[in-house]
Amino acid sequence: MTLSQRREIETDRRLRLLVGLVVVVATVVVVASLPGALLREPPRSAYDVATLTMLTFMIAVGTLVKARIRIRSTTQSISWNETAIVIGAAIMSVHWVVLCTAVGIALASLRLSPIKIAFGVGKNVLVAAGAGTVLGLLDWTWPGQHPLVMLAPLGIAYLVVAFVDDLLAIPVIALASGTQVRRQFRTNLDLRIAGFAVRFVVTACTLAILSVDPRLLLAVPPLVLSLHLAYSTRIRTRTEQHAWQRLARATDALNVVDLDQVLTTAVTEAAELFSADEVEIELRDRRRTVRGNAGGIAYDGAAPEPSTVDGRVMPVALEGHDRAVDLGVLRLRFAGPVELSEREQYTLRTFASALCTAVRNAQAYAELARIADEHAYAATHDALTGLSNRRHLLDEGTEQLANRHADGVTALVLIDLNHFKEVNDTLGHGAGDRVLTQVADRLRGAARPDDLVARLGGDEFAVLLRGLPAPAIAAHRAEALLAALHEPLDLDGMRISVEASGGIAVAPASGGMPELLRRADVAMYQAKRTGQRIATYAPTRDTADLGRLTLGGELPRAVADHEFTVNFQPIVDLGSGEVIGAEALARWHHPTHGMIDPLRFLEAVERSGLLPAFAEAILDQALIAAGSWRDAGFDLPVSVNVSPRSLLDARFPGAVLARLRAHDLPPDRLVLELTETLTLSQLDVVDRVLSRLRDSGVRLALDDFGTGYSSLSLLSRIPVHELKIDRSFVTAMESTAEAAAVIRSTLDLGRSLDLTVVAEGVESEPQRRALWELGCAAGQGHLFARPLPSGTLLAALQRGAGGRPGALAPPLHDAGAVIRLPGRRTGGGRNRTATPAP
Ligand code: C2E
Ligand code: CA
Ligand code: CA
Repeated sequence: MTLSQRREIETDRRLRLLVGLVVVVATVVVVASLPGALLREPPRSAYDVATLTMLTFMIAVGTLVKARIRIRSTTQSISWNETAIVIGAAIMSVHWVVLCTAVGIALASLRLSPIKIAFGVGKNVLVAAGAGTVLGLLDWTWPGQHPLVMLAPLGIAYLVVAFVDDLLAIPVIALASGTQVRRQFRTNLDLRIAGFAVRFVVTACTLAILSVDPRLLLAVPPLVLSLHLAYSTRIRTRTEQHAWQRLARATDALNVVDLDQVLTTAVTEAAELFSADEVEIELRDRRRTVRGNAGGIAYDGAAPEPSTVDGRVMPVALEGHDRAVDLGVLRLRFAGPVELSEREQYTLRTFASALCTAVRNAQAYAELARIADEHAYAATHDALTGLSNRRHLLDEGTEQLANRHADGVTALVLIDLNHFKEVNDTLGHGAGDRVLTQVADRLRGAARPDDLVARLGGDEFAVLLRGLPAPAIAAHRAEALLAALHEPLDLDGMRISVEASGGIAVAPASGGMPELLRRADVAMYQAKRTGQRIATYAPTRDTADLGRLTLGGELPRAVADHEFTVNFQPIVDLGSGEVIGAEALARWHHPTHGMIDPLRFLEAVERSGLLPAFAEAILDQALIAAGSWRDAGFDLPVSVNVSPRSLLDARFPGAVLARLRAHDLPPDRLVLELTETLTLSQLDVVDRVLSRLRDSGVRLALDDFGTGYSSLSLLSRIPVHELKIDRSFVTAMESTAEAAAVIRSTLDLGRSLDLTVVAEGVESEPQRRALWELGCAAGQGHLFARPLPSGTLLAALQRGAGGRPGALAPPLHDAGAVIRLPGRRTGGGRNRTATPAP
């Protein structure tokens, strides 16, 4: 049982108790009056009978003619019956008045429920008894008194009547309508006092007329009627005025933008406004029903149970003025048999229409708010992965760095996928997107609750680490993040390994978020360059990287303005010191930054979509240089580095061969240097591109040999002509046995596959000699020459070393003789026709 149900039962009990009490006392009074009336004062004449009948009739009529005020399911009526009762008490004995009242009231209220009849009769019997008793006590005599002398006792009797009437009626009405007795007492007090005065005047006048000539009584009904009309009109006007004011206030109150608040307000206001026992609003499209009363909302949900209020239901559709919308229904429920007046019906429709507008406004507002939220979300999040975007990262980071009360250390980890563009280019953007979403999920999964994971664009991600206990922890966290990417991704059953590089920076003392981001970027670039998975920002290594971030946007101009040029580093026969080829190395002559190293811009070029234009420009310059050397008598092959990404472009071989034809160079004068990557080796397109180039006579070299994981696997599929031992092994060969072992086995491999092996980064004579003694025929490095402009290299070739044009170093001497190449080096090797100019 709900609280309200319990309260209702309690109210019912008290109501019955109160009515019962009144009825019992009244019954006692009636029974006590019977002997006095019938035995001691029986009607003696027809006139007496007529008077009694007339009085009973008047009491009945007075009861029926009333102004009604409905309060919730009960109607409070202001009637004339007490006027008739007081008149009766004045002209006959108290016993008869009591009896006439009982009969008159009972007759007048025949159509009502038994409890209402009982209460009406009981209350008025007590009123009559009170009036009669008071007049008796005041020595009232009738007739024969002067009208003016009558006034005082009559006034007192009337006061008692009004008091007894209110005393009995108000608590009952208050209980039945659930209002407070005090409030009920104050309701329309002024009107009630005015009505009381009017009725007293009517009573006094009627008695005065009666005492002069009873026939004049005929004038009383018109007088009473007009007074009644004036009075009830006044009441109605007043009630209506109040009602309109309340309607205006109620519709005003609906002017809120929150739907919940609109519904709550509507329910409570409607309950007040229409004195309904329950108000229900059913919103159709929302499948929501809200129910309650003046006290608040009792139910709010989708599947309403039947209402507990059993009685009349008044539904009104929630449709706009134009009836274009149909939001649902507003229902008023009354426990009693209530009829709404015309004015109330109009009020109800107006209220429903205002509610409809308010609901629509609230819905529109909610929609707007939702769109605004969505925009705010979209503005701060990456649509593909749902991660924060760069802007959000910057905002959050800035806030974090500005917060002096923040605990711990803030750091940023920048994560960049390697070879992502290849996935995009070969498997399509759909696959690329799935890779990115999976990477995003992994990072999200590996991040701590305090971390902010963002996608900065492309294949670049960032994780803002907040509240670290110590700066050193950042590296551990970064390790964990990158480890999450270690397991291959699953793309519809195809397993794809992603490699990523990470850069870590701990929040700087100044410079804020942009500086933190820059530092992390520098660190990440450091990682990429040094082949580490993760690098932490170190200020000492920073200067070289300054400005890298700004370079990206300048690439199109650089390509268009031919800012990319090529330097050439000679490749030398280690034994004789003769030049046997040259490697083209790109340079960027930046108008303000000066000369920029390839490692600082290559990645940007590869990402930018300008790679084909860039590669062609480099190839062109390399072939032009080779042509110019040939024309000068040095027919050297030129080696050109090829980005892995170029190998994914099926048009690449065609473009290369076209350039060769354009410069009138045989294909074997071009060596393409390839760096292998794990993803590359798995892709058929790479195989096709390389096969086509090789079949056309272009020579292939495997660059940085020894550093990749699976260099051998590519080697087994695409036969290359040349291996280039990575500089790191050459540098380390004197100090570590391991490096020397790698070199030795590479040389063995070269010998068995009949490949030329070129050692990179030869910086000293001991290195040259050691390599030579291991069987390495060729090398390049600062020992012989740094990368030089084509003309400078040509001049050096022409000048020669020790008077030998075409040589850049003296030959190695062993016991006074030039050591010739070991006999093992045969046809498959590099063409060593570095013929000196005649
Ligand atoms: P790489 O192909 O391994 O080129 C050799 C790099 O080692 C060059 O750096 C060269 O200047 C440097 N080097 C040569 N001898 C020595 C030495 O004795 N000691 C030291 N410490 N370094 C030496 P560079 O020019 O900065 O090029 C770096 C990388 O950029 C190249 O590595 C190559 O992978 C790439 N690259 C250069 N030009 C191009 C290009 O046109 N296209 C593509 N795709 N990549 C290029
Ligand atoms: Ca190279
Ligand atoms: Ca290399």
